[in-house]
Amino acid sequence: MIRTDVLVVGGGIMGAATAFFLRRRGISVALVERALIGQQASGVNFGNVRRQGRFLGQLPLAHRSRALWGRLPELVGEDCEFTVTGHVRIARDAAGVQRLTDYAEAARPLGLELELLTPNMLRSRFPFFGPEVTIGSYSPHDGQANPRLVAPAFGRAAARAGAQVFEGTEIVSLTHGSTGFEAETADGQRLSAPVAVVTAGGWADRLSAALGEPVPLELHAPQMAVTEPLPHRITPVIGISTEIQEEGLYIRQVERGNVVFGGGRRGAIVDGRAKAVPSNLLLQLRELQRFLPGTRHARIIRTWAGVESYLPDHLPVIGPSARVPGLHYAFGFCGHGFQLGPGVGDVLAEIIDTGRTDVPLEPFSIARFAAPMP
Ligand SMILES: Cc1cc2nc3c(=O)[nH]c(=O)nc-3n(C[C@H](O)[C@H](O)[C@H](O)COP(=O)(O)OP(=O)(O)OC[C@H]3O[C@@H](n4cnc5c(N)ncnc54)[C@H](O)[C@@H]3O)c2cc1C
Repeated sequence: MIRTDVLVVGGGIMGAATAFFLRRRGISVALVERALIGQQASGVNFGNVRRQGRFLGQLPLAHRSRALWGRLPELVGEDCEFTVTGHVRIARDAAGVQRLTDYAEAARPLGLELELLTPNMLRSRFPFFGPEVTIGSYSPHDGQANPRLVAPAFGRAAARAGAQVFEGTEIVSLTHGSTGFEAETADGQRLSAPVAVVTAGGWADRLSAALGEPVPLELHAPQMAVTEPLPHRITPVIGISTEIQEEGLYIRQVERGNVVFGGGRRGAIVDGRAKAVPSNLLLQLRELQRFLPGTRHARIIRTWAGVESYLPDHLPVIGPSARVPGLHYAFGFCGHGFQLGPGVGDVLAEIIDTGRTDVPLEPFSIARFAAPMP
């Protein structure tokens, strides 16, 4: 039996960051990952480290996370290619202008300063946009990072700090009794801890249901692609704000020149794995070339999709169980968990260590789905 203060189930960015921040507080922790750390959504996502456009009630957590992104070298020993390139949200119609203007006004008192750019301002600053764009909302301190690097960096840093990290180890049962939590792995190991954290991404609902808190979690597969290297012109991350699914792309260009883009129609999930759908790529290319005409001759070198978990209100579950003492959750990030990862790990470690946090988590409580048992 392996005994620690905390057992973390699932080694995506949420679990790896939680284990890391627990160790910084001197709390012993086992981090158990079925495959390799950061191999699922956390490793295949688009790499957007943006705050603008988020649910406003999530901004305090996103700010906390943003501060940690800026400290990655000091915290985990590498920058994970995090660069503060700015993030610009664009729209092309009157409804979009209204949406971005309203969001900028609402976000300002919550500490997110956005600069609204008229078409002329936008094109003089970012000459790569096509003629249809009618507004830009610029967030100078947001940026991008390489998703392949971040969760593994947190996992390695957690291990260096003394966490017991188990890869290739699936938790097949997690139960709670008078002595705390007991977990069994597929290869017959047993772990126990007074506190458990479920950070199992798209598979977290199995564990929450087994502990009496079922949630209506759905899996979807956002679809991405990347071009061959082009001359480096696109500095900020770009998001297209629209009500039309096919138009809703996000785009960034890495320093080497490749343009990475995603969004629009989702890929498919087949036998639990995410697959890119070729016809979606054609629609993505149409929109990419429309908003960024300079990409029209670019060749695509790779396309992919990743498994991400969604809840009906498009908000995650973060924080303590409504039912089981010592149980905590962070899952269901609905396509926007990468930016939040470091902050979620830090806040969960704070709650486990001190019993409280100043970051408002009420909107993310699991209680909104699973009423506490009498
Ligand atoms: C294609 C794509 C693009 C995205 N783009 C962005 C973006 O640009 N910006 C942004 O902020 N967010 C983005 N997201 C969302 C973001 O990637 C996720 O919200 C975030 O990575 C979720 O992290 P996680 O740790 O909760 O889940 P995951 O990374 O899925 O990790 C969960 C882990 O739990 C493990 N696990 C599950 N069950 C068990 C078990 N029983 N025992 C042991 N281990 C288990 C899994 O193997 C997995 O490694 C994107 C997502 C996708 C798929």
